[in-house]
Amino acid sequence: MRTIGAIGEMRAAVAEWRAGGERVAFVPTMGNLHAGHLSLAALAATAPQRVVMSIFVNPAQFGPSEDFAAYPRTLAADEALIAAAGNVDLLFVPTAAEIYPFGVERAVRLQLPSLASELCGATRPGHFDGVATVVCRLLNIVAPDLLYLGQKDYQQFVLMQLMIADLALPVELRMGPTHRESDGLAMSSRNRYLDAAQRRQAPALHGALERLRTRLRDGVVDFAGITAEARAEIERAGLKPDYVEVRRRADLGYATSGRDEERVVLGAAWLGRARLIDNLFL
Ligand code: AMP
Repeated sequence: MRTIGAIGEMRAAVAEWRAGGERVAFVPTMGNLHAGHLSLAALAATAPQRVVMSIFVNPAQFGPSEDFAAYPRTLAADEALIAAAGNVDLLFVPTAAEIYPFGVERAVRLQLPSLASELCGATRPGHFDGVATVVCRLLNIVAPDLLYLGQKDYQQFVLMQLMIADLALPVELRMGPTHRESDGLAMSSRNRYLDAAQRRQAPALHGALERLRTRLRDGVVDFAGITAEARAEIERAGLKPDYVEVRRRADLGYATSGRDEERVVLGAAWLGRARLIDNLFL
């Protein structure tokens, strides 16, 4: 496993693999790696292809009052984890100057359609545009055949699917399942913001979504009623709910009572310094 920071070196490595007939899979991250990230890399490595992971804490996707400065940066530990797991061929760790040569303020930015202002986007204005802005750059630099993203950030997945289709980017998108702690809490770098008491409260989000999913599976179509119940449950556990919604899985449009519609339940809640998100497919 080799770590590189320069765009030219990255392109040269990929070009060499391509020349040898190899396919390239790409797993972008913001580092502070956990088993969820590693599970994506393992999935990327199941096919006979090279795996590139990136670590870049992208300033363009953080709001002014968000945790960009405080976001955990643990490169040495991340490198050790990746080396031990043995699935990643190349780790790309660019500087902000590589990704935004004219500065973040003067960067060319992507603007996603209105789904980017719903769900997580409603409380994080500009967040998904910032994600699209960096993912597009990273795809241009790495030029992978396959892009692996996690279900944990399902709205991000759907928006990146949309961006890839709309911009005709030559990459195939794949999704890895959400990796969880044994009590159901979705693994996240931000879980480290939780103190011991909050860590015990945190699985309540997943629990509420599970019960919501059961109600839907039982055939309940009063979405407003059952999402309000889930919010109340999250609140009783001591979290501050942001949203709980039932949406169409394909495009995150509003769910209808149609019988053969595939759905997803999504939720977000604040707990101390952390904002937790989770979702479950029906
Ligand atoms: P992040 O470092 O949070 O930007 O995440 C990088 C990638 O890992 C994204 O595609 C996430 O969806 C994915 N990811 C984060 N947490 C998990 C998890 N618990 N299980 C699976 N994938 C995850």
